[in-house]
Amino acid sequence: MLKIFNTLGRQQEVFTPIEDGKVKVYQCGPTVYSTQHIGNMRAAVEGDLITRALRYLGYDVKFVRNYTDFGHLTGDNIGDADSGEDRMEKGAKREGLTPDQVADKYIKIFESDVAELNIQMPTKTARATDYINAMVDMVKVLVDKGFAYVTPTAIFFEVDKFEKYTELSGQKLDKNISGEGHGTVSDSNKKKPYDFALWFFRTGEHANALQYWPSPFESSLVANGIGFPGWHIECSAMIKATLGDTIDIHIGGVEHIPTHHTNEIAQSESANGVKYVNYWMHNEHLLVDNHKMAKSEGTAYNVQELKSKGYEPLALRYFFLQSHYRSKQNFTFEALAASQTALNRLRLGIRNLLSEIKESRSLSNNIDVSFKETFTQALEDDFNIPQALAITWDTLKSDLPSEIKLATILDFDRVLGLNLVDELEQPRTLEVPTEVQILLDERQIARIEKNWTKSDELRDRLKSEFGI
Ligand code: AMP
Ligand code: ZN
Repeated sequence: MLKIFNTLGRQQEVFTPIEDGKVKVYQCGPTVYSTQHIGNMRAAVEGDLITRALRYLGYDVKFVRNYTDFGHLTGDNIGDADSGEDRMEKGAKREGLTPDQVADKYIKIFESDVAELNIQMPTKTARATDYINAMVDMVKVLVDKGFAYVTPTAIFFEVDKFEKYTELSGQKLDKNISGEGHGTVSDSNKKKPYDFALWFFRTGEHANALQYWPSPFESSLVANGIGFPGWHIECSAMIKATLGDTIDIHIGGVEHIPTHHTNEIAQSESANGVKYVNYWMHNEHLLVDNHKMAKSEGTAYNVQELKSKGYEPLALRYFFLQSHYRSKQNFTFEALAASQTALNRLRLGIRNLLSEIKESRSLSNNIDVSFKETFTQALEDDFNIPQALAITWDTLKSDLPSEIKLATILDFDRVLGLNLVDELEQPRTLEVPTEVQILLDERQIARIEKNWTKSDELRDRLKSEFGI
């Protein structure tokens, strides 16, 4: 029985899908205006682990993740909705490209990074600019039903019309007022400070917006209703278009609870008249050296930077496996080095099993029932991946026959995604004894850490003890 911690209600609940055996999942994806840092990658890995686990548990999963390629203002993530600069325009100015070119560039980088982290592609990726009509349609319904009102500069959702507005966040409504005043849309026609924009007309602060579309809405200041949708309506409309009015699971970062996801619920439930999401799952953030990651601090590392320092992307994936998605995780290079070593040891374990099996010629597809049961229980406990990883190690260290161990661990790797099956195709390295591999790994880490004394010492030991 799968149990999920639902942000809506703040407790673990037994998971019951809308349709037997099927799960519809959506995750808020990246805004594609720059290279995604390892914090964003943690979010992507968590989405991958959850969907892999659901498939492992036997569900038929339809998973959609979006690319935000317009309209995400810098204030949106910090509870100051509708304020700040448009991220895509920021990227376009920085690089002398059009917003579309910026999106193409960073989608490509993102897709290559996630592939290196062995993150499976979602069933569908939805690029926001491909769904403008769906967004316009939804805004229109909200206006027609009286949940939204049109002013000369924007169309606002009238929060007071949606009673359950604070249900997800559990916050007092006046908390949402605190950011008011910095907002770019200082519109005297706005009824309440906490009302949020569904559509920005291309006027005022946004008069020079680079991305805009005509609409059926009327503003006294612009012709043809020209403007662009707000960020929150993007996800609501893309979910409706790709998965339907009600979905099983919506995943996103914790920072989205008070504004983005709260607004998504208000829009979708008002427009569609049915419940929007049954289970809300929020991943906690990655810290670096116990601080918030920041470009200005030089701690917003990305996958390619880690690679250039000698770490494999899969070592980063291994690092992420060690923490539950609802816990903050602290990144340090020491921890990454330890993950690299652990991953190498796991691979070596696989190679040793393989050589033992080759000797005894006893290949098997038999999976150990008892380890599989505990592994499954860990997944069913709100996707307890750290526990699942520990069970994988227990399996390796157990006294099961080698061929059953191997089959069982490879089965678990369908969820962990460490690509351990690759080890089966590298018999070259089979001859390296465990003790040697450990010393080699430690030397590699010492070198990465520029600890030359230690790396020299390890080299000498490799030479004197093993002739390597
Ligand atoms: P953004 O491009 O800012 O919309 O972020 C893309 C995704 O990365 C969102 O789901 C965020 O919640 C997530 N994210 C951003 N920073 C972090 C972090 N430090 N740790 C984990 N996830 C993050
Ligand atoms: Zn979203």
